[in-house]
Amino acid sequence: MPEQPEKWPRGAVWTLTHAHDAGQACGIRCGKCNLKRFYKPLELREVIGNVTIDEVREKVRCQQCGSEWMDAELFHPTGEQAHTIRYRRLVQIRWEKRVIWRDE
Ligand SMILES: [Zn+2]
Repeated sequence: MPEQPEKWPRGAVWTLTHAHDAGQACGIRCGKCNLKRFYKPLELREVIGNVTIDEVREKVRCQQCGSEWMDAELFHPTGEQAHTIRYRRLVQIRWEKRVIWRDE
């Protein structure tokens, strides 16, 4: 479960924007090869939209083994973690041009 502020109303959705505002990090781990990576919520939002952590879990796949069996969590990095976490940063979203032909 994501860590949410205690004041947060029950049932209200906690999205990546909220996570960013709260200073959370997102950890995503592959259930198959156990590879864990850390992301910045704002950058994940660029890629998959302003969704909840449950939706993040459903949408991501392991880039190493292709597994869809993923675990994702939002958390507040502790003081020490904040300095040692190595994030996987978004470099670019590339929209490739595809040409489709049709014979008449
Ligand atoms: Zn994997």
